[in-house]
Amino acid sequence: MSRIAEVLLPIAVPEAFDYAEPEGMALVPGSLVHVPLGPRTVLGVVASLRDGGGGNRPLKPVLEALTEPPLPPATLAFVQWAARYSIDVPGAALAMTLRGLRAPRPRPERRLVVTGQMPARLTATRQSVMDAATDPISGPELARKAGVSSGVIKALVDEGVLRQILTEPDPGFGAPDLALTGAALNPSQAAAAKALIDLVQTGGFGAVLLDGVTGSGKTEVYLEAAAAALAKHPDAQVLVLLPEIALTQAVLARFEQRFGARPAEWHSGIAPPRRRQIWEAVVSGQCRIVVGARSALFLPFSDLKLIVVDEEHDGSYKQDEGFIYQARDLAVVRAKMEKALVVLASATPSLETVWNAETGRYGWLKLSARHGAAVLPDIDLIDLRSSPLESGRWLSPPLVQAMAQTYARGEQSLLFLNRRGYAPLVLCKACGERMCAPDTESWLVEHRYTGRLVCHLTGFSMPKPKACPHCFAIDSLVSIGPGVERVEEEVRERFPEARIEVFSSDTVRDAASARALVQRMTEGEIDILVATQAAAKGHNFPNLTLVGVVDADLGLRGGDLRAAERTFQLLVQASGRAGRHDRPGRALLQTYLPEHGVMQALKAQDRDGFVAAEMVERELARLPPFGRLAAVIASGPDVQALETYVQALAAAVPNAQGVEVFGPADAPQALIRGRRRKRFLVRADRSVDLQGFLSAWRARAKVPNSVRVVFDVDPYSFL
Ligand code: ADP
Repeated sequence: MSRIAEVLLPIAVPEAFDYAEPEGMALVPGSLVHVPLGPRTVLGVVASLRDGGGGNRPLKPVLEALTEPPLPPATLAFVQWAARYSIDVPGAALAMTLRGLRAPRPRPERRLVVTGQMPARLTATRQSVMDAATDPISGPELARKAGVSSGVIKALVDEGVLRQILTEPDPGFGAPDLALTGAALNPSQAAAAKALIDLVQTGGFGAVLLDGVTGSGKTEVYLEAAAAALAKHPDAQVLVLLPEIALTQAVLARFEQRFGARPAEWHSGIAPPRRRQIWEAVVSGQCRIVVGARSALFLPFSDLKLIVVDEEHDGSYKQDEGFIYQARDLAVVRAKMEKALVVLASATPSLETVWNAETGRYGWLKLSARHGAAVLPDIDLIDLRSSPLESGRWLSPPLVQAMAQTYARGEQSLLFLNRRGYAPLVLCKACGERMCAPDTESWLVEHRYTGRLVCHLTGFSMPKPKACPHCFAIDSLVSIGPGVERVEEEVRERFPEARIEVFSSDTVRDAASARALVQRMTEGEIDILVATQAAAKGHNFPNLTLVGVVDADLGLRGGDLRAAERTFQLLVQASGRAGRHDRPGRALLQTYLPEHGVMQALKAQDRDGFVAAEMVERELARLPPFGRLAAVIASGPDVQALETYVQALAAAVPNAQGVEVFGPADAPQALIRGRRRKRFLVRADRSVDLQGFLSAWRARAKVPNSVRVVFDVDPYSFL
């Protein structure tokens, strides 16, 4: 009996396509195949198989089954679930999973090995080469290791003493050594670790919030859970998700120390051939620990036993372009499908996660104190109304004084301002013109290092003009407000002797430069670090005792459901960089809103009080976690076509209990890259099938060619 293979393709088509399985191909669900699609041959995955032929029209056959192992069933199920949840086509989620497979294989590398033949003349130099060539090694490396010239090596190759072989390049990770042990845990760490180890050993799905103040040793605790997971089975795997590439280095190093081998590192900065190696090793079970960014969640793990989502509250777990997903939420779904444990770690857990823990859906483990002698920093507010800033200055006298004292003691300060560049706005003092991108309604940010004005929304940039483009007045453009570059300028004026650096995505562009800067800071080569959120999270700087928050109110502006929550989390994280070792730390927050609930909670270090108050507000408004939210953004260059479409959509809202639809309204960013943007917000009770509602709604209005519509379930960005 012939069979039909239903094949999912990693492209934007609404469903799987049927192909005939050629005799003897022995496909299974998950098989990776090449199939014809129009004139092309494309990669796909067999979703299911059924008996039958093509009926009247013979089906095209599967062309080839790849030699790679099939996608594991849980991976396949996860991809399909994720696509349904995001109201996207399965191909969009599948493309995430196949990304590593579609990367080119690394080219084999040339290595030298000893053949066993002795050289005709054995000099001391030649002996040192033979001694150094214990493992396959490249020629230049061997020359370096043996301390000889390349001529010596070449002569030995010519003589047949060394032979060239081709080897797979080093994949950058190794096998964990489970005989090694971790740090001696303090009693509350040990209790948390034991609880996690018990859950791992019992097996099956579980979700736990690991809730511990910054520096309490959450990493030490989840390392022990990882050890237990790896010990379960020779192929068992562990995935650790991190919100920032800059943080991966520190966590990789901790794993390497704990297990004697580096885990695989997965994020956008990893070269494609390396990704291909990791992908193949993950699906075959050979790669056992992956530390990576959100996209690592889509890797085809064959035996995943533990997922850790570190800094689980972090907004960068949400991807809101391309395939839209929230990796923390999906990690819980994936763990369920893998029958694995998921640990959500944070000092400032998201309201959603706290609610899940409070209602018993997740376990809740607490670490309430910093490890060892370290104590949490004192947090004080600087009221900028009573300690006003001098004109054109951004650091108030009390902050400057605290920095001077810190510097005099030989300790480090960190100034935190979550704004890249020099100034967020450039305007003409003659005519008042604000510099905007040509096709986007967003201010251009001045960057002094590069001398350019940059749109942070679209990446557009232009040299800063000499004259106002509107009234042509010369030298009339003035910079308004501070970014990190401008704060750095002020710090240099105030502390001319100090060693000052800036940590932002403009100064630290890749993992290597992040590592280098973190190392300089750790080793005390920097006195004052001016940083955006790139440095606010996770790092341990032993000699850092003062954190100054330049504009604590920044995140509170603008209408965003999570503005207060995010500000609180970010400022706790930033403050938490201070005093992580034996010297006490202090954080000073400059604010115009000292009475604001967020500032009061920060000062009192009352996270639980803040969360409780915020919960009440969310509950009253029936917003997440008490209700569900989705945004619908329609955009297009043709205003008329866009308006017609959103009106048609507004008229087509399905009748449903417990759902409210707001809009259409201009999106807060109403023009990006020449496309007008309109937005609906949907609020639904938790009992509502939101995906069903949105799918039905979308199907009711035909989308014109010029319009693009995006359904964003659980939106984090409200642009
Ligand atoms: P968190 O992840 O909660 O911020 P970490 O795990 O990074 O905390 O721990 C903070 C610092 O304290 C790190 O430098 C870590 O190595 C150290 N530390 C934590 N627990 C222990 C322990 N039991 N023994 C030795 N050092 C520890």
